[in-house]
Amino acid sequence: MNAIHTTVHHTAVFDHPEMEDHENIVIVQDANTGLKAIIAVHDTRLGPALGGCRIWPYATPSEALNDALRLSRGMTYKNSLAGLELGGGKAVIIADPRKDKSEALMEAFGRHVERLSGTYITAEDVGVSPEDMEAVARHTDHVRGTQATGLGDPSPYTALGVFEGIKASVAHVFGDPSLSGRTVSVQGLGHVGFDVARQLHEAGANLIVSDIHKPAVEKAVEAFGAKNVDPADAHKVEADVFAPCALGAGLNARTIPEIKARIVAGAANNQLQTPADGMALKNRGILYAPDYAINAGGVISIALAKPGGNDLEVRNKTIAIGDTLTRIYDRAVRENAAPEQIADRMAEERLSAARPIEVS
Ligand code: NAD
Repeated sequence: MNAIHTTVHHTAVFDHPEMEDHENIVIVQDANTGLKAIIAVHDTRLGPALGGCRIWPYATPSEALNDALRLSRGMTYKNSLAGLELGGGKAVIIADPRKDKSEALMEAFGRHVERLSGTYITAEDVGVSPEDMEAVARHTDHVRGTQATGLGDPSPYTALGVFEGIKASVAHVFGDPSLSGRTVSVQGLGHVGFDVARQLHEAGANLIVSDIHKPAVEKAVEAFGAKNVDPADAHKVEADVFAPCALGAGLNARTIPEIKARIVAGAANNQLQTPADGMALKNRGILYAPDYAINAGGVISIALAKPGGNDLEVRNKTIAIGDTLTRIYDRAVRENAAPEQIADRMAEERLSAARPIEVS
């Protein structure tokens, strides 16, 4: 294989704004396939660094590095808080998934994952399909979410965790977890959002739904008797819970003053545009379920799926997301902090109690 595989030692990396205690950053090139990738291993104190592989046409390598550093750190926190014996990592491939992706490219990526000897475990992310992961798996066992290792699509587990998280949030605010008669505004009816809506409906909640994709809205209106609003108004409606299940950064200086719900609890990643937005929610008396805590069902399913295994362990650990949120909320009250600050503290405490793995 015509390839370069080096660990970067350069001040431009060490001084990078997203650089923290990352353990290992590998720059990967493969001239035969055109593969250009960055694999960032942020922290392995709890175990091998698990995190997806994203394929994106980054404008510059610096943008790709930025994402790899930021997302790998996020995975450390997510895996730690979810109680997994896994650290955090992430891979980014600089390519347009619609034009540049090939089996050979994914196989070359798989060979590089193999070279990391299991300190990094890869999985699907934006721009990567199950077929792509099968190609990766031909060259490394350090891959999750393939047919041999996985329980298939993680979305139903993510949705289950979000549903449990909404119940825990309702219990904290209203003193009763019952969803019967509660109103929830679900923004985004994709793989996760639609299934969250279904569970809420079955639990007796009234639904207000929104999506830019009209057929999904029509289906939810029909199946769940949901009301429909414009996606731009989803956060403004009279509801007990606002559940963002579309894109990130939806909680910001513009939207937060308009929220009427007492609770924000949904699946979307990176919901807070800035850390100040978390404090703004707290100051308005709105309970925020930290995104990486409530949406961990997917990573739990990817982490714990075993060949031929049943999904009971995964379901139990996903259902426990509700208890984790309750602990976060109770501690946030005691320490007068925002829930996302407590989530970070709990993730960090578990990390500090762990020992670094031996590198042979
Ligand atoms: P998806 O692509 O299947 O669904 C997203 C839905 O949001 C689509 O129906 C889309 O039309 C809609 N949408 C896009 N822009 C919108 C807007 N401005 N207003 C309203 N709707 C809009 O994605 P998904 O897998 O359901 O994931 C949803 C969110 O949850 C994402 O933020 C994702 O990162 C996060 N998440 C997903 C998983 C998982 O297991 N799939 C795990 C963790 C986090």
